[in-house]
Amino acid sequence: MALKGLDIFKLSPKKNCKECGCPTCMAFSMKVASGAIELSKCPYFSADALASLSEATAPPMKTIKVGTGDAEQSLGGETVLFRHEKTFVSKTRYAAHLCDSMDEATIDEKIAKVKAVDYDRIGERMYTEMVYVNHSEDAKVDFVELVKKAADIEGRVLIIDTKDVELAKAALEVSKDKKPILNGADASNYEAMSAVATEAGVALGVSGKDINELYDTVAALEKLGNKNLIIDCGKNSIKEAYAIAVQFRRAAIKDGNRTCGYPSLVNAAVLAHGDKHLQAALASLFTMKYGSIVVVEEMDYATALPLYGLRQNVFTDPQKPMKVEPGIYSINGGDENSICLTTVDFALTYFVVSGELERSGVPCNLIINDAGGLSVLTSWAAGKFSSTSISKFFEEQDIAGKIKNHKLVIPGKVAVLKGDLEAKMPGWEIIVGPREAVQLVKFLKDMQG
Ligand code: SF4
Repeated sequence: MALKGLDIFKLSPKKNCKECGCPTCMAFSMKVASGAIELSKCPYFSADALASLSEATAPPMKTIKVGTGDAEQSLGGETVLFRHEKTFVSKTRYAAHLCDSMDEATIDEKIAKVKAVDYDRIGERMYTEMVYVNHSEDAKVDFVELVKKAADIEGRVLIIDTKDVELAKAALEVSKDKKPILNGADASNYEAMSAVATEAGVALGVSGKDINELYDTVAALEKLGNKNLIIDCGKNSIKEAYAIAVQFRRAAIKDGNRTCGYPSLVNAAVLAHGDKHLQAALASLFTMKYGSIVVVEEMDYATALPLYGLRQNVFTDPQKPMKVEPGIYSINGGDENSICLTTVDFALTYFVVSGELERSGVPCNLIINDAGGLSVLTSWAAGKFSSTSISKFFEEQDIAGKIKNHKLVIPGKVAVLKGDLEAKMPGWEIIVGPREAVQLVKFLKDMQG
C-alpha cells in the first residue's frame, strides 16, 4: 500500500538541511509520498529506514532496461495513467518483425527497411529501435542464424520470440552481449525460461492463454525472484491485447498492484497480419494506451511520419515548453556579412524555419529570441515577442556588434512590429518576411535577385 507523507517523515533524518532541494524534511516526505521526488535525493536516511521505505516508495511500475550502449532503451517506470497528470517517462518503442519462416531474400529486404526510416524531428531521432525475431513451426531458415543476423543490425534492441527452451538458450548464446529481450515464458515453461533469461541477464517476456493465466504466471515468476519481466499482451485478438494493456497498467498505477507493474509488448504484426493500415492504427492506439513496445511487420515513412509525431506529442513533458537555446544560429555558412532573420525559441518553429533556410542554400543568421518556448503568434499575444523584447534581446546579446549586416527579416505574422522595431533599433533595416516558413526559400532567393 502506498505510504503517506507522515509515515515517511517519521523515519526521515529531520535535519531540515535543504540538500534535497526541499525547505524541510516534512516537505520532502510529502513530495516522496506523491511521487514527485525520489527518496534517494536525501543522503541522510538510515539504512534501516531506506530498507523499509524503498519498496513502498518505489514507482508502481518497474523500469526495465534493454539493449546496450547507444542502443540501450528504458521501458516502463510510469507513475500516472494520463499525460495531463504528469509526464510519461519511457516512450513506446517500435520493432520490425522478422521470422524464420521468411526466405533469405525477404529477410534481407526487411533488414534494409529497418535501416531506411531514420530522421530527426524537433531534435529527436526517429527510427525503428527494435527488431523482433519470431520462431515459427515452418521455418525456412535457421532460427539461431537469423537471431545472429538481427543482432548484427547496429543500434537496435533485439527481441527473441520462442517458447522452445533449448532454442532460446542457443539464440541467447549468440546475442546475449546485446542484452536482448527473450519473449518466451508461459504457464508451461516459465521456470526453465526464467532460468535461461536470468543466466543470460536479459528481460523475459511473459504471455498467457488469457489475462488470468498471464497474471498467475507473472506472479509465479516473481516468486522465483525474477522481476526483470515484460508483459506480452498476446496474439489472440486486438480486444484482448487492449484489455491486458489497459487493465495491467490501471492495476499497477491505481491499485498499486506491482505484479502488474511491468512494461508491455503488443504484437500488431500478428494481430493485424497482412494489413499495414490496421497495424499503423494499432501502433497509434497502443502508443497512447499503453504499449511499451509495439511490433509491426515493417516501418516505412508513410507510417513513421504521423506515428512518431504522435509519440513525440504524447511523451513530451506538458509542463516544459519545447524550446531551443536563444542565440545566433549560422545557417549555410552565414557569417557577419550575412542577412539576419529572427523568430521565437519554440522548438517546432526553430526546426521548421531552420529547415527551410537550409533548403534555400542562402548563407544567413537565424536569431532566436527568448520567447518562453511559445509559437510566434502566441508569444506575440503574450508580450514575449514584442518590439521591446526583441530590441532588448538584440542589445543584451550585442547582435549589432557581432554581425555587420544590419538587415533583419521578421516573421510576416508579426508585420505589425516593423514600425516599432525601426524606432527602437536604429541602424537596422527591418524587412517583413513571409507568413509561412515554407515561403522562405523563394523569399530569400528573390531578395538575392
Ligand atoms: Fe531533510 Fe534529507 Fe532534505 Fe536534509 S536532505 S532537508 S535531511 S530530507
